[in-house]
Amino acid sequence: MKIEVHRVSPLGETVEATSPLPETHMEPVGVWFDQPVRLKMKVSVVNKVFVAMGSYETTITMECHRCLRRFAYRAASTDYIWEQPVKLSGDEIIDLTEGVQEDIMLRLPLKNLCSEDCKGLCPRCGKDLNEGPCGCEETGLPSAFSELDTLLQEEGE
Ligand SMILES: [Zn+2]
Ligand SMILES: [Zn+2]
Repeated sequence: MKIEVHRVSPLGETVEATSPLPETHMEPVGVWFDQPVRLKMKVSVVNKVFVAMGSYETTITMECHRCLRRFAYRAASTDYIWEQPVKLSGDEIIDLTEGVQEDIMLRLPLKNLCSEDCKGLCPRCGKDLNEGPCGCEETGLPSAFSELDTLLQEEGE
């Protein structure tokens, strides 16, 4: 949703749109912006500052930090505010969805979890423990991952 700054009414105006979000994938945090965002905002320019305030709603895809499964996450705000200085040079364009995307990133939980009590993967065999126990605890076999770690360390030396 792009706004031509010089066309914004001095009294402000309401924009309503459904727009795709700019980036499709934030690899390091396991977040995918794969759905359009619905937004309804009042935009205005006051003292050379562009202001957008209102609400947005979308669904993003996240990867669970514990079990690596992907799940849908509703990202929404009803008290969104975005401010950006403008030059009023006549050809400035502001993409409302960029601010929304930043806001979504800022509001994300510290850990992406498919559910609060996600059991995650077994550190030994890698089995998804949400699907049931793997039996590692009982047998006490050495971890496949720790063996791999040792190999990698040896290679790195
Ligand atoms: Zn999970
Ligand atoms: Zn296991």
